[in-house]
Amino acid sequence: MDLYQELILEHAKRPHAAGLREPFEAEVHHVNPTCGDEVTVRVHVTGDGQEARLADVSYDALGCSISVASASMMAQEITGESLEQAGRAYAAIRSMLTSKGADPGDEDVIGDAVALAGVSKYPARVKCALLGWMALEDALAQSGHGLRTPTTASEGTT
Ligand code: ZN
Repeated sequence: MDLYQELILEHAKRPHAAGLREPFEAEVHHVNPTCGDEVTVRVHVTGDGQEARLADVSYDALGCSISVASASMMAQEITGESLEQAGRAYAAIRSMLTSKGADPGDEDVIGDAVALAGVSKYPARVKCALLGWMALEDALAQSGHGLRTPTTASEGTT
């Protein structure tokens, strides 16, 4: 087992700061029907505009190791960060996971989630790894903030 696989199993077994907490502005429940993964994500945002921060990201993930580990890595990486930084991390993760192995990911931007780089070679599992992030994007949209994803326009071209 390589280091990345160990990191994934570690997060799956002991998800970082797991559990749903208050206060929160929005809660969403997302399901990945192809694998059976489920995730509930709550967001608590403080501040406005440029100052807006993800004061808390709490979640309850049920499913395969990849989906649980990805939600855990997400929470670890973006809790306390600005929406802009979180958006950058989401864009980087999405780019890595849809690169079919070409983009190894940048640890400075996505943290432990670089361990999920290998998932991009298995199209069926990409949804597992993206589930938590898609729930986050949805929760933020419902909270009235929205994730700032700087590279959305150039997706697939880099
Ligand atoms: Zn899965």
